[in-house]
Amino acid sequence: MVENKIYVHFQGKIKGFVSKKLTEIGTWNKMNGQLHPDIMRFWQSFMRRFPRISVFFIGLSFLFSVWACIPFAKKFDLVIQNGFIIDGTGNPWFKADIGIREGRIVRIGFIDDKQGKKIINAQDLIVSPGFIDVHTHCDRGIVRIPTVDNYVYQGATSVIGGNCGGHPFPLKELFKKIEDQGIALNFGCLVGHNTIRREVMEMKMKAPSAEEMESMKSLIYQEMEVGALGFSTGLSYLPGAYSEKDELVELASVVTSFGGVYATHLRDQGLYITEAIEEAIEIGETNNIPVLISHIKLADDVVWYELERITEPVEKARKRGVEVTLDQYPYTATSSGFGSSFPSWAFEGGNENFLKRLENEENYAKIKSYVIKRRLTSTKGINKPETIYIANSRKFPEYIGKNLQKILLSQGKEPTIENTADLIIEIQKNGGASGVFFQMNEKDVEGLMRLPYTMHGSDGGIQEKGRGVPHPRNYGTFPRVISHYVRKQGVISLEEAIRKMTSFPAQTFGLKGRGMLQEGFFADITIFDKNQFEDKATFSAPHQYSQGLHYVIVNGELVLEKGEHTGKLPGMILYRMD
Ligand SMILES: [Zn+2]
Repeated sequence: MVENKIYVHFQGKIKGFVSKKLTEIGTWNKMNGQLHPDIMRFWQSFMRRFPRISVFFIGLSFLFSVWACIPFAKKFDLVIQNGFIIDGTGNPWFKADIGIREGRIVRIGFIDDKQGKKIINAQDLIVSPGFIDVHTHCDRGIVRIPTVDNYVYQGATSVIGGNCGGHPFPLKELFKKIEDQGIALNFGCLVGHNTIRREVMEMKMKAPSAEEMESMKSLIYQEMEVGALGFSTGLSYLPGAYSEKDELVELASVVTSFGGVYATHLRDQGLYITEAIEEAIEIGETNNIPVLISHIKLADDVVWYELERITEPVEKARKRGVEVTLDQYPYTATSSGFGSSFPSWAFEGGNENFLKRLENEENYAKIKSYVIKRRLTSTKGINKPETIYIANSRKFPEYIGKNLQKILLSQGKEPTIENTADLIIEIQKNGGASGVFFQMNEKDVEGLMRLPYTMHGSDGGIQEKGRGVPHPRNYGTFPRVISHYVRKQGVISLEEAIRKMTSFPAQTFGLKGRGMLQEGFFADITIFDKNQFEDKATFSAPHQYSQGLHYVIVNGELVLEKGEHTGKLPGMILYRMD
């Protein structure tokens, strides 16, 4: 027994000594960059005694080191050389190369082209962070078209959906589908108020009961926990229009602890826009969350040229420390369903009730006069029927691409305001349609773009090429800012435009590691020719990709190469990170 104990004791001692010695040698080797003297001595005496075996070992170790070095011979997966770098901060361009490894930017500076497995020569081209579109409705078609062509061809590398109060519920399922099948660019999503309210209260035009309020809050909580970036409202759509401010203040409170944003399609974008902005600010300020006012515009000619209706409340709030920002698309026409031309009470209880109400003469007259006031009245003498186009309609495909005046004339009717209102009601009665409405002024678009707290966003969605006549913003938002507003009109500088498409959106939505060209950041990069980059989509022929875009890189992989979509799907879900 005693002998056994002694044996175990010495065995432990020897083991401890050997492992201590090995650790010591290992550390020494690492720190000095050469072999420990004890190892060197052992190796020299081994070589003297067994010269042939030594030669064999030396040969073997040489072969091993060659084999081991092969994968590391090139330092970068991709190198972009010779480009003009605009890093997204708003700083002026500089010249440098960019080295990318494992999806990240690992070096900005001079890089020898022998160090890249693949080289892009960006001579004379702009190398910018990939564009981030903060205002899209891509959540609606992204599973069907994961290549997201109409955004890739604009230079976008990230899109945010769930805007204007609508998102696919529950988000968990959407995120899973996207992750299972892959997606070309990065996608984040907001929780939509209209979606949540419809889930809990259907189309009721009333304030929520305490119980309904709790249910809505718990659903918002559930979606935020899955990774939504914030809460959105669409207060001129249904059922959002049925909600009062108090409801929104309380619902938005769920977002505070998650660090989310409040993005809002205002209750009014015309005569009452200031009041609508003040409501949005109060919702954010009470809950201590940032407020992003969606697709900012003066959408009624009665308020054209009165930018102070927007800038005054926003700047007052910013002065007292409320984070209020705006997003904007670079066009003078809006686009939405014709439903937004009707009074919200007309749809109370759902579409069946709407159809019944139209049968009542008195109700019909009330609805009609609202449509005339909302859509067909101008204080500047504009012929409204001529400015409203049908973008898409299932029931009336022959209307697509035509304005209401033309449609009436083709039916042998006079294009009067009365007849136009009847036509709008007829369209809505038959399942509705999406329209394009020219209701903004170029001067106002430019004025809003100049504000440092306005960023760019398309308000578009996934498009199937050739289907319908959608708003060209779906294909042209980012290239149009650069070609029309930077190059032709000189409204803002190229560096400022890129800041509004990259670092500013990333900051607003808390997208960590994106929106700038910096070492350690995700390699989301767009490369274009600053003299050629241009939108080709027009109102009459919108299904056209931009020109002058050379490469789009998402998480280090080429999604667009030499102007062509590669079909690759390296995008990620942009989960809220806090
Ligand atoms: Zn909207």
